[in-house]
Amino acid sequence: MKLFSCILTENDCYRRGARITPKGVMVHSTGANNPWLRRYVQPDDGRLGKNTNANDWNRSGLDVCVHAFIGKTADGSVAIYQTLPWDRRGWHAGSGRNGSANDGYLSFEICEDGLADRAYFDKAFRAAAELTAYLCAKFGLDPGKDGVVIDHSEGYRRGIASNHGDVSHWLKKFGRTMDDFRKDVIRLGEVENMTREELEALVDERVKKALVGADTTASDWAREELQQAKEHGITDATRPRGYATREEAAIMVERLRAALTK
Ligand SMILES: [Zn+2]
Repeated sequence: MKLFSCILTENDCYRRGARITPKGVMVHSTGANNPWLRRYVQPDDGRLGKNTNANDWNRSGLDVCVHAFIGKTADGSVAIYQTLPWDRRGWHAGSGRNGSANDGYLSFEICEDGLADRAYFDKAFRAAAELTAYLCAKFGLDPGKDGVVIDHSEGYRRGIASNHGDVSHWLKKFGRTMDDFRKDVIRLGEVENMTREELEALVDERVKKALVGADTTASDWAREELQQAKEHGITDATRPRGYATREEAAIMVERLRAALTK
């Protein structure tokens, strides 16, 4: 996860300085075709690039601000920028009949592009899942619990946000849903919460499986000769893509020697 920091200290939201105790994460996307972080996040740190239109969010007079942005840096790679202290009250959700998600939800914007580029979609939402998992772990939030990880459109349906379609409208274009997104967040959290022993056991199991070659079938180029080797008693031809141990190799050579010296 590439997490950088560029706090928008000129934004009135930052200056107001109200605090929250985070109880969830609300995911947003910008609703405008401009994937470049520099559109919103300034000043240029040498990585963002410079916004020459003076319309970034690091200025007074705006009624919006979020805790982080995800988008492209000047070199085109996808990065995450923290833009408010995590315990600052953001201005991102508006309000509904049950109040406002600004009171308690961490928030970030994913910079939209034309919503047709699968590669950018995958990278941006991967970063979004990583950031969400990171925030859930940091603040002790359970992403599997109802209402903890939601997008703006779900916030609207719950009566705690204004009527916007993000980010489900974007997910839908690539056959995904917020439920899929939450599953990604939960999976990332599980890996993050593994003990060293659990992680080592998992790696050991994977490596062992690869070495043994259980349930593998022979490659096309090897099938015929492998069958011949089996008929000649050199190998039993099981687990064909597994690795041979020194004792197995020695026995195969010994069988060949015995056959040749018969
Ligand atoms: Zn939104």
